[in-house]
Amino acid sequence: MLVTESKPIEEILEFLDGTAKVFLAVCNGCPEACKTGGKEGMDRMQEELEKHAKNVVGTTIIDMMCNKALDWVKISRSMHKVEEADAILVLSCGVGVQALGKVVDKPVHPGLNTISVGGLPGLWPSEERCAACGECVLSHTGGICPITNCAKSLLNGPCGGTTMEGKCEVDSEKDCGWYLIYERLRKTNKLENLNKIVRTRDYSKIRPSGELRKTIFYNIEQKVNS
Ligand code: SF4
Ligand code: SF4
Repeated sequence: MLVTESKPIEEILEFLDGTAKVFLAVCNGCPEACKTGGKEGMDRMQEELEKHAKNVVGTTIIDMMCNKALDWVKISRSMHKVEEADAILVLSCGVGVQALGKVVDKPVHPGLNTISVGGLPGLWPSEERCAACGECVLSHTGGICPITNCAKSLLNGPCGGTTMEGKCEVDSEKDCGWYLIYERLRKTNKLENLNKIVRTRDYSKIRPSGELRKTIFYNIEQKVNS
């Protein structure tokens, strides 16, 4: 199970600044178990958004958002609502936000931070990866993770070694993560995001306490140390 916690509402409102109409997409897999998603998480977030004058034009619950085929089936049923929205707020792990961002041409914003991938993911048949950095920046990077897509995990733009073909200087077989981010921001009319600086990270969040992670590995660690 991927462990998530809710982002502070202040942070969510910050990246929804200037966004009047929001579509809310919620994962019913791991976040349901963490009580950050599912019906409970969705109702709570919808109430919070409406309290802050956001118009929630539609909602959907997807069993395993890390599965793009499932995402497409569910989101296409609400496409008229998605098209009406300015952006999608996603309550899922980082993999789910990235997967949903690949099937719909709208800005996607993470409503959760992923803090552990210590357990098994749900249906994860594709290339999206999350390193559970505990401070999700997908809102800034157009739904493409710079931690797992850039060989140097750079947060504020490319290293300068990107080839003319948009490949990474570390591995010429792979696309440069920041090239992918640029293309995605261009497609969703969000290139202004490149002018914002991602603040210094709290690296302690990358390795949260075992108690917080509460995975099988934590239990093994406890047994080994006792
Ligand atoms: S920024 Fe990347 S590694 Fe961090 S939580 Fe988001 S998807 Fe995961
Ligand atoms: S070329 Fe792109 S992906 Fe590779 S290290 Fe530089 S910025 Fe990161």
